[in-house]
Amino acid sequence: MAALRRVLPDIDLESEEISADVLNSILVTKDDFKNALKDMQPSTMREVLIEKPDVKWDDIGALEEAKQELKEAVEWPLKFGKVFDHMSAKPPKGILLYGPPGTGKTMLAKAVATESEANFISVKGPEFLNKWVGESEKAVRETFRKARQASPCVIFMDEIDSIAPERGTGSDSNVTERVISQMLTEMDGLEGLSDVVVIAATNRPDIMDPALLRPGRFDKSIFIGPPDKKSRKAIFGIHTSKRPMADDVDLEELALRTEGCTGADIAAICNEAVMNAVRRLVSSGEMPTDEQIAQCKVSMADFEKSLDKFGPKAAEKLRDYKS
Ligand code: ADP
Repeated sequence: MAALRRVLPDIDLESEEISADVLNSILVTKDDFKNALKDMQPSTMREVLIEKPDVKWDDIGALEEAKQELKEAVEWPLKFGKVFDHMSAKPPKGILLYGPPGTGKTMLAKAVATESEANFISVKGPEFLNKWVGESEKAVRETFRKARQASPCVIFMDEIDSIAPERGTGSDSNVTERVISQMLTEMDGLEGLSDVVVIAATNRPDIMDPALLRPGRFDKSIFIGPPDKKSRKAIFGIHTSKRPMADDVDLEELALRTEGCTGADIAAICNEAVMNAVRRLVSSGEMPTDEQIAQCKVSMADFEKSLDKFGPKAAEKLRDYKS
């Protein structure tokens, strides 16, 4: 089209035929390609989406230490910048959350953004890996540019291990190396208190590039482990508090019987128990009366069924992870 546009003025549109000279002069040149490239946005490069999450600290059961550390590292510098300035206190630019999947890492990152009234950009490591030369770096640059524009902003990078295997070990290390150096450049470029904080999550901290863990980059790592019994009870509390529960539902007992389950497993167990109650109510296919709806509650028996379905599987998964 660019080549055509160039010769268009030479064509007499009134005449029946176009002269061979003009036709022969239509050549697609390198410059035409260059211009076309300027107008093209690679479709594989996802739009960077800015979110305003609404997860609160109270929506997260247990994990008190992690919450406190995130408050100090992210919320305080954003809220009390003056104090940090005066004291020359340096908040970390990057924080690494590591631990098994489903333990609440994403929730924590969202909650810290909500509670600091910051915007939230969520990206997954593999999304940066693009086989087109230069596109991966561009995606990293674009993410940080958007974050600076939307500051205060938390950039959440999930599955960071996928872009950060130790340099030189991967077979396609060229892309990952370039992505890592671009990330290091961007993170080094973040001024102290620049209102952009990077929170990364992984379940494989062992394969992270050590260069990323140096001071001034991800210089704070927080382990988010599977919940103990007390924490499981707190998580059950959160996932049952807004749902009608029968009196026989015993959270202590549920916590005791879900050894090895993560927060995500507990959420699934609660959902399934609620669904069991819903099934009881609507399985006949008839619309229940308002009174029947008002009386419907999730019972311990609903939880028993749900535990049979999810409990063992969840514990097994976690065992696999440990081994
Ligand atoms: P991760 O990022 O560690 O894989 P997520 O933060 O995505 O895990 O958690 C997945 C789901 O599990 C959440 O949406 C939530 O329903 C539940 N969940 C996990 N941990 C907790 C927790 N501590 N308190 C309440 N819910 C939790």
